[in-house]
Amino acid sequence: MRILVVEDEERLAEALGEIMKSQRYTVDIVHDGESGYDYAMSGIYDAIILDVLLPKMDGFEVVRNMRAAHNTTPVIMLTARDGTEDKIKGLDCGADDYLTKPFIPGELLARVRAVSRRQGEVVLNELQFEDVKLDLSNYTLRTEQRSINLGPKEFDIMRMLMFSPNVIVPKEDILVKVWGTESDAEDNNVEVYISFLRKKLKHLTSHVQIATIRRIGYRLEVNPDC
Ligand code: CA
Repeated sequence: MRILVVEDEERLAEALGEIMKSQRYTVDIVHDGESGYDYAMSGIYDAIILDVLLPKMDGFEVVRNMRAAHNTTPVIMLTARDGTEDKIKGLDCGADDYLTKPFIPGELLARVRAVSRRQGEVVLNELQFEDVKLDLSNYTLRTEQRSINLGPKEFDIMRMLMFSPNVIVPKEDILVKVWGTESDAEDNNVEVYISFLRKKLKHLTSHVQIATIRRIGYRLEVNPDC
């Protein structure tokens, strides 16, 4: 999962980042509303944690502008005040949930899981394609006989491939979704992780393979030789 944190209080922003990293989520942090809006509009996030009181553009405006631009990324608003008005205003502007500061990390994480699940049409704990299953709760890839753990980037790439089996997933999409727009990662980073995944699929003795579609991307498919 990739999370955007928009919070101007640096210590809190850092703490939020650590909470997300503890779950092996990838996190980007920005400190004002304008940057928050720009990052949010990249569409690469699974959820956004958005403070209300922010410089340049407040949180209400950020979420209102996002929704006006048809961006549906789930948003959790953080408010320092527990006034009902702020909560109602946030939800009216298009936020999915809110949390009052101070909060406990466990509650924030539960809400992040809930809103990111809601975005999909069905609640998924597992993706399956042919003889291979990807467990979304513990980063495990397995077949009937064997299982193996995936690193965070391997997991993100495998999840993208398994969401659309037999369909070409452009390398560019993988780069942006897994490494982010601000990263200086290059095409060969993707190639390296694809080669890791191929080794793991081989270890699992799966019939599934990752085919390279030259100059375009990758496709998860059944190995025709099996
Ligand atoms: Ca603030």
